[in-house]
Amino acid sequence: MPMENQKSDLLKRMENWQIQLEDEWSLEEIQRVLKVFDTLAEQTGTSSIPQLFNHQITILKHSGRPGRVGRTKGNEIILDDNWTDWTFAHELGHRWNNAWDRLPEQRLHQSVGAGKFEWLKRALRRFEKWLERVFKKFDVKKKIDWPTLWYQPGSAPPPCGVDRNFNASEDLAESFAATIFPTEAKTRTNNVATRAIAFAKSWDWSTTFSDYLQTPRGQITLQTIKELGSNNEYRV
Ligand SMILES: [Zn+2]
Repeated sequence: MPMENQKSDLLKRMENWQIQLEDEWSLEEIQRVLKVFDTLAEQTGTSSIPQLFNHQITILKHSGRPGRVGRTKGNEIILDDNWTDWTFAHELGHRWNNAWDRLPEQRLHQSVGAGKFEWLKRALRRFEKWLERVFKKFDVKKKIDWPTLWYQPGSAPPPCGVDRNFNASEDLAESFAATIFPTEAKTRTNNVATRAIAFAKSWDWSTTFSDYLQTPRGQITLQTIKELGSNNEYRV
């Protein structure tokens, strides 16, 4: 099949799923986007992508910047030039969370008791940043990174480790990506645990579970995807 026809066929599939592409997308990129959606449907048994995203349009854009990450604002996903499948799956998790007014994120953190003392930690983190600025003023190049103030992952291991940027939304987005790529998640979490300091060992589920879908977080995320992907009752 000529490349242009192939491209328009794939774009048609996306249109049916209410996914809009802005800017130029190569055939290879379009194939990768579709593959992530196909894997999502396969892993979760979702039969309707539009239903899963609450019948809202999702817009994909290029940031035009070098890099491998992305950002999500409302219904827009903006990807850097060298985006990876994991990056896209992660941003899609944010998009999914937004489509349901953050219900998936709330359900996840409530189920595993994550984010304990977040109200207090948030204030203390602001203090931590202020302290960093003060240090800088006095030419002390000290980066304060006090793990006690990090978002607490609760009674179940987080998808792929925790750092200072981890919070309820990142937890959900990582969990969504890990549900699409449960085996890759295992490798990632193992790598993080190998790099991380001793106390991070408690996060390393890769030694106890065969893949992410077997973990408590994986099961909760999968359950929420299944429910929202099939039930119109939840429409918000
Ligand atoms: Zn994120």
